[in-house]
Amino acid sequence: MKNVNLDNYFARKMQKRLLICYINTTQGNFTADSLVIATGGRQFGLNVIPQTPGLVSINVDRNVLPNFSELSGISLNASVTCNNHTFKDALLFTHKGLSGPVILQISNYWTVSDEIIINLLPDIHLIEKIAAWQIRNPKAEVKNLISKYLPKKLIQKILERTDFTKPINQYNKNQIEEIAKLVHKWILIPTGTEGYKKAEVTRGGIDTNELSSKNFETRQVKGLYFIGEVLDVTGWLGGYNLQWAWSSGYCAGLVA
Ligand SMILES: Cc1cc2nc3c(=O)[nH]c(=O)nc-3n(C[C@H](O)[C@H](O)[C@H](O)COP(=O)(O)OP(=O)(O)OC[C@H]3O[C@@H](n4cnc5c(N)ncnc54)[C@H](O)[C@@H]3O)c2cc1C
Repeated sequence: MKNVNLDNYFARKMQKRLLICYINTTQGNFTADSLVIATGGRQFGLNVIPQTPGLVSINVDRNVLPNFSELSGISLNASVTCNNHTFKDALLFTHKGLSGPVILQISNYWTVSDEIIINLLPDIHLIEKIAAWQIRNPKAEVKNLISKYLPKKLIQKILERTDFTKPINQYNKNQIEEIAKLVHKWILIPTGTEGYKKAEVTRGGIDTNELSSKNFETRQVKGLYFIGEVLDVTGWLGGYNLQWAWSSGYCAGLVA
């Protein structure tokens, strides 16, 4: 702002109840009549939805599967459900738990103590397969047959609690259903996530009800804008978060 009588300028602004910002930065001090915040900020009395890491790997109690870390590196296509949201994509076993796109996606819907349900063979109906195997390969072991579709190391651990060494024709209906459940409906309660250090986004943030949905100006303070990830807007994997940051910034930039 050049050649402006600041006293008059601010007096006029105050009469109009418009925002006057004094910003102290390492690059100097600035004054402005509108402010776009793209960093996170809470000092304006706006409602903030609690923040948690999103698009992030999850940790799993090592007792869930014996020697869980031995599975590290295994990847497969799975579907994962949490709180009525389901994604199907690559799943990766890590030393501490689970990762891969399908886990990053579902992590946006997980909160502490929620369970996740993993279908390790989403494209196969295991009960029907086993029925067919009982006719075609009656003497084969179930783990050898399932290992056509899943890594043997994994299937061995998943089925460890059942007696999976018998020939397939010796399993009754209930036992087959139990095996199918372990594969199609593996239920886990993650112990936590890998946290902000590894998260791609922050869930939560400034409540969107506080803002105009057209230009992201706050309803309470004229001239104050919030855009991008600082808002309670979290996208899926696939570039949606960057798109949101750029698009909301553009809309605010048109008027700020
Ligand atoms: C590893 C990783 C991978 C990602 N991959 C993708 C992807 O593939 N696709 C996608 O859509 N999204 C991805 N994201 C998310 C995406 O990068 C963010 O959602 C997006 O950059 C948010 O933009 P923003 O401008 O709101 O905030 P940011 O990009 O976080 O920018 C905020 C800026 O504010 C500065 N700042 C913070 N506090 C202060 C302060 N007090 N004073 C001064 N400056 C401050 C920060 O230094 C930073 O430069 C990824 C994120 C990470 C971490």
